[in-house]
Amino acid sequence: MLERLRIVLIGTSHPGNIGGAARAMLNMGLADLALVAPRCQVQCQESASRASGADTLVASAQVHESLEDAVADCSLVVGCSARSRNLPWPMITPRAFGATLADEIRLPDARVAIVFGREDSGLSNEELQRCHRHVHIPTNPDFSSLNLAAAVQVLAYECRQAWLAEQEAAGETPRAEDDQPFGIDWDSPLASHADLERLFEHLEKTLISIDFLDPEQPRQLMARLRRLYLRARPDSMEINILRGILSAVDKQARQAQAAADSRAH
Ligand code: SAH
Repeated sequence: MLERLRIVLIGTSHPGNIGGAARAMLNMGLADLALVAPRCQVQCQESASRASGADTLVASAQVHESLEDAVADCSLVVGCSARSRNLPWPMITPRAFGATLADEIRLPDARVAIVFGREDSGLSNEELQRCHRHVHIPTNPDFSSLNLAAAVQVLAYECRQAWLAEQEAAGETPRAEDDQPFGIDWDSPLASHADLERLFEHLEKTLISIDFLDPEQPRQLMARLRRLYLRARPDSMEINILRGILSAVDKQARQAQAAADSRAH
């Protein structure tokens, strides 16, 4: 379970925080570290000194240009945020997130990403809108922002506690699999982040072509649709059906346009 968890740090500006996050991860048995467009040197004396022995994780960290690349293969992506945003998103605590992990990871090839933001500005709305869930560490509301590596520590700790509880339970009574909403008997694997992004891209194009979405005045339409689909956790078959519907709409729209053009001539 812990090997399939990825910690993603976006735009980190202090090498010490990369080292600190690596140490927090290794302490809790996590090893998959991804860095998106770091704004500092990754392997240097400062990161090594804060990693204090977990330097291998820093050295093996995958560096990506975009969040999409870093989480393309993940079927669950959660974004950690210290602040609430304009458009409320499904919000959970680190503990509640840990409690869902065993079921998430039981699925074939499931990968889960936990995304952390920049020290100065956190995660952008656009980045947060790519996440299925937001995780908020319940802190003092008047002073809610943790140091980046400390936030990684809290999440990694809760994941380890959940894993330990799972190990213990596995040694005792067998689980009632049929109570699990996406248990091993689910008939199709959950959609990956990349599948979902392709759906959103297609949906946006179609909605523009049928004049439902005005690109000059998009308001929050795509953000609300993202929230809807991400909340539902579609599987790959459902994504294929939705894309099929969009292609049929595209075809009808092209035919209607062609008919209108020929009438005009
Ligand atoms: N100043 C930034 C916070 C940066 S802290 C802001 O106002 O958004 C760096 C990162 O640590 C955040 O982007 C978030 O991923 C994580 N973090 C810090 N405090 C957190 C909290 N209370 N709950 C969840 N994540 C938190």
